[in-house]
Amino acid sequence: MSFMVSEETAGKFDWFAELLLAAMILPGFVIINLTISPVPDKAMVYLAVGFGALFAVVWHRVKVPLSRDFKNFIEAIVYIITIFFIVHATGGISSYFNFLYILPALDIATTSNRRFTVATCLFAAVFILGEVFLFPQLPIKPFAGLSSPYILSIITALSVGLMAAYGRYLAKEGQSSQVDFVATGLGREKSINKLKDEFVFIISHELRGPITAIRGYLDLFLSSANKDSKTPSEIKTLANNAFKQSDKLNNLISDLLDLSRLETGKFKLATEKIDLNLFLKDIVKEFQMEAEEKKIKLSFSASKENLLIDTDKERLTEVVSNLLDNALKYTGQFGQVLVWSETRGGKAFVSVADTGSGIPSEEVPFIFIRFYQPVSTQENQDINNPEKSRHVGLGLYLVKNLMEKMGGEISVDSRLGKGTKFTFNLPLAKDK
Ligand code: ADP
Repeated sequence: MSFMVSEETAGKFDWFAELLLAAMILPGFVIINLTISPVPDKAMVYLAVGFGALFAVVWHRVKVPLSRDFKNFIEAIVYIITIFFIVHATGGISSYFNFLYILPALDIATTSNRRFTVATCLFAAVFILGEVFLFPQLPIKPFAGLSSPYILSIITALSVGLMAAYGRYLAKEGQSSQVDFVATGLGREKSINKLKDEFVFIISHELRGPITAIRGYLDLFLSSANKDSKTPSEIKTLANNAFKQSDKLNNLISDLLDLSRLETGKFKLATEKIDLNLFLKDIVKEFQMEAEEKKIKLSFSASKENLLIDTDKERLTEVVSNLLDNALKYTGQFGQVLVWSETRGGKAFVSVADTGSGIPSEEVPFIFIRFYQPVSTQENQDINNPEKSRHVGLGLYLVKNLMEKMGGEISVDSRLGKGTKFTFNLPLAKDK
């Protein structure tokens, strides 16, 4: 006998079900050895039980090319035939063992579909009624005018049908409570995620104030230190490095803030008209020092046309900064990073290309996924270059989402060992 379980657990439960069946044989054995009337045909009972037990053991282990439902149905039919012999050998319709018909009906109702459940009940009814119609029965003491074995067989068959209906109801209950359980779990997960997004938003928001203040103080210190020839050059270098690191921290906080704004639906775009070439020239200038330190040639080539776009300047800064940051991060000494703009079909196109490490082709489809960790670097952590090994996996996810919000698109073209080119486009402003 089997229960409504998944395929992996089915094996374990079949073993348990077999044990229960074997345990059921014991009280049956006691009953047929009591002095009951009529005297049971013990040989037939032992034969039927032996056959039923052997069938159960074999049937649960053979691999047959049948659906699980159909396999259960055949099992139920064989049990009904076995029960028929037990009932017939122990007094026919008045036998104590008539209740056994309920077992295959309940089993099929909880493990199979409605069609097989109805067929099993009809099959059981044929055997229950067949017993009365085909074989002589013991007289029955009348109750409320009912004394015929035929009536008793109809009541028995009906009871079996009712138990099967009850079994189907139980199975449906079990299924819907499983669905409820999964749904509640998903709901809880959603609210935990929402809480997490809110938490990230609050923390990043709170971090922004102090980091802006630190950058302000460092900027003030650096501008006066640069004017003052007495300030030792080591102090200037240290302050410069601190400023650069605070800049990185500021960019990361901006990324985190935008990430949580996107996730919590708080994201809003501001628009202003900007000259894209002027804007790109300024950003590239900001990265010039870092490029020089890394001995990378960074240059910008502007389109001949004037490119005016309506955009959120702060968000576009994030996009270009992330692309430039990556280009410098993944390009070695004496490499090149080139930024250029052009116009095609009413759109402005901006490309950021480098001669760096490139991206393995199998990883390209995943680089825009949130918190993506490249497989290649998971395997070979670059101990000598911790910056290159630091993978947050946030930059490109944000870049893609910001581009989509701004009505643009981004694409990537990369060759391992040769370099990478990211190109994004934005619609040109309508009124020039
Ligand atoms: P992070 O750089 O923090 O891991 P990103 O989202 O910015 O996260 O980038 C995702 C991945 O894409 C990187 O881990 C890297 O493998 C790859 N990648 C991005 N830009 C470049 C580039 N210019 N050259 C080589 N690989 C790049």
